[in-house]
Amino acid sequence: MPTIDDLAQSLSIYLTAEQIAQIRRAYYYAEQAHDGQRRRSGEPYVTHPLAVANILSTMHMDHQSLMAAMLHDVIEDTGIPKEAISAQFGEVVAELVDGVSKLTQMRFETKAEQEADNFQKMALAMAKDIRVILVKLADRMHNMRTMGVMPQEKKRRKARETMDIYVPIANRLGMHSVRVELEEHCFKAIYPMRSRCIQQAVKQARGNRTELVSVIRDAINTRLREHGLEGSVTGREKHLYSIYKKMRGQKKPFSEIMDVYAFRIIVPTVDECYLAVGAVHNLYKPFPGRFKDYIAIPKANGYQSLHTTLFGMHGVPIEIQIRTQEMEEMANYGIAAHWLYKSEEEALIGSHDRTRQWLKGVLELQQNAGDPLEFIENVKIDLFPDEVYVFTPKGNIMELAKGATAVDFAYAVHTDVGNTCVACRIDRRLASLSQPLESGQTVEVITAPGAKPNVAWLSFVITGKARSNIRHYLKHQRHSDSVELGRRLLNRVMVSLNSSLDQVSEERMSAFLEEAQIETLNGLLEEIGLGNRMAYMVARRLVDSTGERKDQLDNSDSQQPLTIRGTEGMVITFARCCYPIPGDPILGHVSSGRGMVIHSQSCRNLGDIREHPERCLEVEWDKNVSGEFTVELRVELEHQRGMVATLATAVTSADASIEKISLEERDARFSMVDLLINVNDRLHLARTIKKLRAIKVVNSIIRTRG
Ligand code: MN
Repeated sequence: MPTIDDLAQSLSIYLTAEQIAQIRRAYYYAEQAHDGQRRRSGEPYVTHPLAVANILSTMHMDHQSLMAAMLHDVIEDTGIPKEAISAQFGEVVAELVDGVSKLTQMRFETKAEQEADNFQKMALAMAKDIRVILVKLADRMHNMRTMGVMPQEKKRRKARETMDIYVPIANRLGMHSVRVELEEHCFKAIYPMRSRCIQQAVKQARGNRTELVSVIRDAINTRLREHGLEGSVTGREKHLYSIYKKMRGQKKPFSEIMDVYAFRIIVPTVDECYLAVGAVHNLYKPFPGRFKDYIAIPKANGYQSLHTTLFGMHGVPIEIQIRTQEMEEMANYGIAAHWLYKSEEEALIGSHDRTRQWLKGVLELQQNAGDPLEFIENVKIDLFPDEVYVFTPKGNIMELAKGATAVDFAYAVHTDVGNTCVACRIDRRLASLSQPLESGQTVEVITAPGAKPNVAWLSFVITGKARSNIRHYLKHQRHSDSVELGRRLLNRVMVSLNSSLDQVSEERMSAFLEEAQIETLNGLLEEIGLGNRMAYMVARRLVDSTGERKDQLDNSDSQQPLTIRGTEGMVITFARCCYPIPGDPILGHVSSGRGMVIHSQSCRNLGDIREHPERCLEVEWDKNVSGEFTVELRVELEHQRGMVATLATAVTSADASIEKISLEERDARFSMVDLLINVNDRLHLARTIKKLRAIKVVNSIIRTRG
């Protein structure tokens, strides 16, 4: 068992004395923190983090990763808070430790198998720094190595989880040697009998093969020298699990799999890789169609090599892999190899489009990896830039588009949940519905019967499902709002004609509808509400034929103005040119298809509007008008630090709310601030302005109308 001194010794090859001293400090801190704790095997607990750091050192991982490895179980097992780690070892190390702890807390093992893929992605997405994953993999590797003393059932569960989650992650990251070792441990734990069986068979077969292996190796070596190539040739042992997979997957008998002789040739340069292929093809006949060029076209996880299969003597198949030393490191350590070669300008050849977005980023990094520090910065990449993974309260995983909010989540659960949601809890805490979700969060939606979607949601939802459902609902809502307004408009005119809708006979109504080619009364009212038909014209036609007197028809003075209550919904809007609020004299303008727009009588657009008197309507505020109305203020003030915050505080202290602040610098001394605020009425506005005037640097405030 290597000690901290042994580790420090081996680190001196690639780290500075200062960095090694920091790693030592982390080790002693962990030793203190875990004092009294023991591993299942009886050893002091600190041997585990030390071993994890050792694993990472073989990949030449940086000192921060090694410090995090030393401390990786401290938060989880000793209750020392993240802040304490941050104070001792800095923010970066604390973040790494925290990230590893979060992964440790995830109970992947209890989840259904079909969710494994999502869990892998979630684990990756949660780790904002890829080094979190590398520390976690090393942690898991050591735990799997030392699993011997665990009860069989627990071993099996751990192995399943490792197989489902961590093996694929290692594979995604191109970490072949980590993947293979994890697979071997898992295979032994899950299928102890089968693994022992294959192991036995391999042992026997190996005896018979030794001689042939060295004959072939010598032949290849000689041929390479003849071609003037410097290279090393090694025989490759097949791993138990890969033999097992082949036996199952390809339904091949053991003998056929073991019959293949596998070698790897490492040469100094890429050119020599291709020359070496020529040399071995010249030695033994190649198998047609088995040559693969993964150098020109690397695998999605960055793997590069040339593969070929040859007919050896007596027709034995010989599999050959040819690559450079760098490709070898990349094949073994994958993403971690970037730390091995972080300062070298080793460009990848022929990097084609990657299937994985993240890997593309990583490969580009390798190409530009000039400054190691810059590389570390850039390692904080988004592995799944387009997705987030969150939990439902029951622990199921939901995949959503990046930037999705609780409302998107609610609609993803069910349309009814979305339509009636009023609030949400994120990680058990009340949170805003518009807050973008992050991977790993647990999201709970709170619904209320009778609650309705809010038009404002459209400004932050990002999933198609949420958007279309909200739109659909609003459209429906708009329909009933327009019917309601249409009824009020029509009735008002009817009353002024000494009639009412109720007095119109059914025959008369249906005759009218038929003539107008509208199917229902509601359809007619909607048309009126939306401004597509004028209430006055409709009323005249309906009243005319009921035989009522016509002498008052043109006497519009007798019409009571329509009152605006503020609760009409979507068919009445307030003009964004003059921002009328209760208390202002107003005028209604029915615009085709958009319902009624309320303007202030001092609006400068009024001239144009008045040109179509048939579309204008006398309106006034209802005594019981309610709601919030937007109004625009222009504030001139002297520059001062934090002045925008001061303005905002003044507005909210008057119980008004801010919709928008835009700042325009006038000169060195003065600024203009345009404020859009929401108030209830003119009195409320006056109170708010008073608060604003009380600010010392405010010179003037005017209410702007367009
Ligand atoms: Mn651990």
